[in-house]
This record gives sequence, structure tokens and C-alpha cells, in this order.
Amino acid sequence: MKLRKVTAAAAAAFALSLTATACGSDDGNGSGSGSGDDKITVGIKFDQPGIGLKTPDGKYTGFDVDVATYVARQLGYKPGDIEWKEAKSADRETLLQRGDVDFIAASYSINDERQKKVDFAGPYLLAHQDVLVRSDDDSITKPADLNNKRLCSVTGSTSAQNVKTKLAPQAELQEYGGYSECLTGLENKAVDALTTDDSILAGYAAQDQFKGKFKLGGFKMSNENYGIGVQKGSELKAKINTALEKMVSDGTWDAYVKKNFGPADYKNEPAPKIGVVVS
Ligand code: GLU
Repeated sequence: MKLRKVTAAAAAAFALSLTATACGSDDGNGSGSGSGDDKITVGIKFDQPGIGLKTPDGKYTGFDVDVATYVARQLGYKPGDIEWKEAKSADRETLLQRGDVDFIAASYSINDERQKKVDFAGPYLLAHQDVLVRSDDDSITKPADLNNKRLCSVTGSTSAQNVKTKLAPQAELQEYGGYSECLTGLENKAVDALTTDDSILAGYAAQDQFKGKFKLGGFKMSNENYGIGVQKGSELKAKINTALEKMVSDGTWDAYVKKNFGPADYKNEPAPKIGVVVS
């Protein structure tokens, strides 16, 4: 990938300078300062507490952030070498195809459509599509109740796609750029429900400013296998799979789940088997 090439180029320049020195032509350019400058660019969500969040003081937190940091370390990058970039749902394939990011860990479900454009390592989490409704609303007790309701979701997500094609084609769907944009609408009754993965919804419901205001339906309407997106054909896929396997077997996966999903009381599925997508 991009960064690997930089490394290779720096190494080649350094090797050339050594050759030049060996030939007696000392031009003073042989500093070879390439090492330590390498960065890796990682796409995450910026507005999903518990998953991927940029805090007001400029820190990055969440399960995806921890997983990505672990993976980057296995690839040879320290946390300080990581450049975080926002990867909104609709932008993920393009970011990878353009080489704007090296990999993406952003509640990114593996599916056939996306696999035509990008490759996935993983999965590293199994979530399910659900709904978030106001606590005092008892009119949505099953997925079919969503028909004729005002639903909010995000452009380019499997959540919005599933609503249109199978879950509730009759629903009045409003699509935004990020899920956090749906929350105000849910609070002030501009929409009746927000639909996406239960892992994301649990994080919102647990936020201080929303405590007691919203509840999850608990519907498990789909299987969302979170993968790490890489460019099609990238050799990073195999390396990331090795890192993910290590993360699960050394107990780090469990620790990250507790740390990030514990506060939201999210009942997660067990660690997925790397390479096995649950349909
Ligand atoms: N996991 C689903 C997806 O990849 C929904 C969450 C998201 O939009 O990031 O589309």
C-alpha cells in the first residue's frame, strides 16, 4: 500500500546512498532518516459512542478504535503513527478505492455488494440490526410495526438498505450522513425510530444526555459481521486476519468488549471465527 511504498522508496534511497559512499562519492546525502516517520491512515466512525468516537478534546475512543490500534501495532505501527480519518457509511468503499485510508474499522458489515469493490479481513464482531425508539412509545413491538412509521437511518448503510428491500418497505425512511443526526429527530418526535446495529444503538441509549429517553426494540433483524475493509487484492488482509486471531486468543478481544460495551450494557455475541461470515 501507499505507506509500504514510502518505506520501500526510503530504503532504496538509503541503499543508493550507501553505494555512493562505498564508491567514494561523498555527497553528504546519506542520512537515511526514513524510519520512524511512517504513518498509517485508518478510517473510523467519529460519532458512534462505544464504537468509534472523536471526543471534544480530540481523542478517539471505542471498540473499533481499540481493534484498529491493536491491528496497527501488529503491522508495526505505534498508536502515535496512526492518522484517524472519518469514514462515513456512504464513503467507505471510495476511501479505500482511492487509497485515502489503509484500512477501515467502522462498524463495516461484510456483504457481497461491498466485496465487489473492497476486501475484508475478519469478521471481528457480530451485531444485529435493531431499532431505537422513545421510552414511552409502545407502538413498535415487532419489525412489521415499522411500516408506515417515520424511520431514520444512514445513507450507504446496510440498515437503510434492509429497510427498503425487506424489513419495512412501507416505512417513511429518512436517510442522513450519520446516525447521530437521527437522535435529535427521535427526541423531538420528527421521527419514530432510528434503525441500525444494536451495538451502535446501545451506545447512544447509554449517553448521559439520553439516559431513560430511548429504548432498544431487541428485534435482531439481521446479522452484521463487522470486517476490516482493505483495498481489493491488498496483502494487508492476511496480515490483519493474523492480528485479529491473536487479539481473540490472547484475551484482548474480551477486554475491549468489556471496556467499550460494558458501560452501555450491550449483550454482545461471542467472538466470531476469523474467516467465517454468519449469513
Ligand atoms: N453495519 C452496518 C453497515 O455497515 C450499519 C452501520 C454503519 O452504517 O456503519 O452498513
